[in-house]
Amino acid sequence: MTPEENYHDWLRDAHAMEQQAESMLSKMAGRLEHYPELETRIKQHIDETKQQQVWLNELLDRHGIDNSSFKDVMGKASAFGQAVGGMFTSDEVVKGAISGYVFENFEIASYTSLIGAAEQVGDAEGVRILTQIREQEIAMAEWLYQHLPNVTQQFLLRSAEPGVEAKK
Ligand code: MG
Ligand code: FE
Repeated sequence: MTPEENYHDWLRDAHAMEQQAESMLSKMAGRLEHYPELETRIKQHIDETKQQQVWLNELLDRHGIDNSSFKDVMGKASAFGQAVGGMFTSDEVVKGAISGYVFENFEIASYTSLIGAAEQVGDAEGVRILTQIREQEIAMAEWLYQHLPNVTQQFLLRSAEPGVEAKK
């Protein structure tokens, strides 16, 4: 395979990853009831994720890559499996926040690899767009990292209170 062919495959993978990100984040936000700060930040990142899909679509179009034949990245994105696996447990908000952090870091690693590929094939516009997307993933990962202790502590307080729902 040529560097361009691999690069194009990875752009498709990134688009599929963002579709999964949107689906995962939407499920989480849709279930949250008692963690408004977390819910608000997730909803903000859903908007960013949709924008990322638009940017990736433009990039795919510009390279003449067929959007209809996206590869199934499910098996590759093991972080995503973990994220979904944490749902519907008695501590799903904590498991979800941890999995969200893992998933954002999976995205950061994917874009860091993709930026290296874009540089190698001489796609300066790709480097620019992919770096812009990666900034949003870094910001989301950082937010989750900073707020994980507080989400956990809120959960613990609610969980200790009889008759109070803690998990979401
Ligand atoms: Mg993303
Ligand atoms: Fe993300």
